[in-house]
Amino acid sequence: MENIRERLKYCTRIVVKVGTSTLTYDTGKLNLQRIERLVRVLSDFKNQGKDVILVTSGAISVGAAKLGPLHPPTSIAEKQAMAAIGQGILMHVYGKIFGEYGQTTAQVLLTKDIVDNLHTRKNACNTLNTLLSMNVIPVVNENDTVATEEIEFGDNDTLSAIVAALVDASLLILLSDIDGLYTCDPHRHDGAVLIPEVYDIDVHIESIADDKGTERGTGGMRTKIMAAKIAGGYGIPMAIINGNEPHNIYELIEGKDIGTVFIPDKNGKKESNAIC
Ligand code: GLU
Repeated sequence: MENIRERLKYCTRIVVKVGTSTLTYDTGKLNLQRIERLVRVLSDFKNQGKDVILVTSGAISVGAAKLGPLHPPTSIAEKQAMAAIGQGILMHVYGKIFGEYGQTTAQVLLTKDIVDNLHTRKNACNTLNTLLSMNVIPVVNENDTVATEEIEFGDNDTLSAIVAALVDASLLILLSDIDGLYTCDPHRHDGAVLIPEVYDIDVHIESIADDKGTERGTGGMRTKIMAAKIAGGYGIPMAIINGNEPHNIYELIEGKDIGTVFIPDKNGKKESNAIC
């Protein structure tokens, strides 16, 4: 059987998704030390000539933390307002740190209705691909400020898989607060074993994913498996690795046995920009 991990070395277009729990402390504020390390790794990949797209969460958490503990969001409108505050802070920090490594970033905010509509999906595709051709790092989030139930992705795991399809990525990496997909929840079962590769997302794989996200984020293993299905349908491999140490991305790309890699569907629609 072809060694999928060896193939990861040759990935030229990588989408990296980082979640709220990896980006922030329990205070809700940004973990700048970790962000610095992540930005440094991603900038290094850019310097190697790879295209990098960052899908980031954290807007609501950072916005809420900025207002202080007296203002926990209690309604959708308040969450949307906090996302508007936090998204600006996120972009400022990314722009500053990526800038220190000589990189240019661009904010791209999407909602599900944009991707569902052929015309606006093409626009999103064109913008993302044009940014990449300009050597820019697109920093993508859901447009939480306007997203309501009918038009939202709801979690950035799903969004990242759609973005991977939009840019015809060669690899999607989900940075998690856990080492990968386990046979059962490692927080609750001592005997949980990491699954290194998933070749088929069958009922068994689906059944071992619980749907609980973290307190400040929204995604759990269920949304990650959903993302793997979407990406795999476009022929894109997906990896879940622990994002607490962003250096792990090097290990993954070097073919080391780290995290869980989902092998894409061989019959996936691997035509260039098949989704657009
Ligand atoms: N778009 C949300 C944010 O930036 C994502 C929340 C999450 O999934 O962690 O806050």
